[in-house]
Amino acid sequence: MPQQLEGTVAIITGAGSGIGRHMSLAFAAEGARVAVCDIAEDRARETAQMIAQAGGDALAIGMDVTDEAAVNDGVDQTVARWGRLDTMVANAGIQIVHPVEDFPYEEFRKVVDIHLHGSFLLTKASVRHMYPQKSGSLIYMGSVHSHEPSPLKSAYVAAKHAILGLARVMAREGGPHGVRSNIICPGFVRTPLVEKQIPEQARDLNISEQDVVEKIMLGRTVDHEFTTLQDVSDVAVFLAGFRSNALTGQSIVPSHGWYMA
Ligand code: NAD
Repeated sequence: MPQQLEGTVAIITGAGSGIGRHMSLAFAAEGARVAVCDIAEDRARETAQMIAQAGGDALAIGMDVTDEAAVNDGVDQTVARWGRLDTMVANAGIQIVHPVEDFPYEEFRKVVDIHLHGSFLLTKASVRHMYPQKSGSLIYMGSVHSHEPSPLKSAYVAAKHAILGLARVMAREGGPHGVRSNIICPGFVRTPLVEKQIPEQARDLNISEQDVVEKIMLGRTVDHEFTTLQDVSDVAVFLAGFRSNALTGQSIVPSHGWYMA
């Protein structure tokens, strides 16, 4: 079977763990050359090694997505290495939960900075290369929380709604340059980011950890199932490999029916 991303070049942030690591491996398996970026450079290197061991081509980059110079440098390194940039995946993220009245401003700002400002900086650096090429695919990592609120997650929900707006603006701005823009909005996936929340939410909501999983995380799915890393990677590969620019400005929601767009 032909590889879906043969000959393309991708840059993926937050690629040292969870969804970003899985997507990086999936992109490489489909023939993409992948710049794997993470603030934890050692974990970015591990992902790059996993790709190399599987016969793929990867470049590990230590990058804090809130540092404009580091983002510009990472994107430039990617283009210097492979001569082009086809896909950007703005995936780096964190989660901090508190009720608003107890939310330290510093922590609120940190969540918005990494998700929203990080996505903006990566977009700005990427389109500088994509516009002259007259092609490219911008992929944002949203969440069901780009569409639905949850208590305790004011910073995360606000940032994820804002990224949906950014993705839509980039469909309009990128369109005339041949660049498309879409956002993936998964339901809960069992990654370190989610595992950390289970005891935190149990404490803040005064319920058991089992209730956090069954009622809060899966309660509104149609089948009480978690979304998987594979589900998210499949959507990302599909968006990166889509043959035309017909699919732009869209939010795709792999969430077992939690949110129906
Ligand atoms: P994760 O914690 O497993 O991975 C996140 C990665 O981002 C880590 O490797 C971390 O080092 C990196 N990172 C954090 N701050 C960074 C920064 N400033 N610069 C660069 N890298 C940074 O989490 P995950 O679950 O894989 O989440 C990845 C993305 O998917 C996030 O945007 C998250 O909001 C989104 N998401 C996750 C879920 C889920 O249920 N896990 C659901 C919907 C959306």
